[in-house]
Amino acid sequence: MGHDPRLMSTSEHKFDSALSSLKKERFRITEPRKALLRLLVELSKPLSAEEIHERLGSESFDLVTVYRNLEAFENAGIVNRMPTESGKSLFELNAEQHHYHHIICRKCHRTEKLDSCEVVKLEKLASDLGYSEITHVLELYGVCETCR
Ligand SMILES: [Zn+2]
Ligand SMILES: [Zn+2]
Repeated sequence: MGHDPRLMSTSEHKFDSALSSLKKERFRITEPRKALLRLLVELSKPLSAEEIHERLGSESFDLVTVYRNLEAFENAGIVNRMPTESGKSLFELNAEQHHYHHIICRKCHRTEKLDSCEVVKLEKLASDLGYSEITHVLELYGVCETCR
């Protein structure tokens, strides 16, 4: 699968666009940050900071630094953070910068996109009340077919 040129160019593209967002935000692009970004690009599902740290290998970053960089990436708008019911956050790349929600399996953390948002209607109501800069956080939790 890694040899599919189409797949490779997609992940290269994601990597480049995330990198240029970081540069725009005046981030110093270090080798460990690049490694973190590369890992995020390759992820097939959102992971916790601990899981990301584990995959990176402990030489490059300690856990606190992984966490701090994920937060910095989140502030730069290239990473989505999903709070879970256990209080741990899961992280994933937000390359498309497109608005959607997730259903998260509370057992295996499998995550699927729900490509629609009804909350926009509530935001409209809030803006009718005179509020500006309205955002929302919404995640759905359940038990997936495999874990049932
Ligand atoms: Zn599951
Ligand atoms: Zn929404």
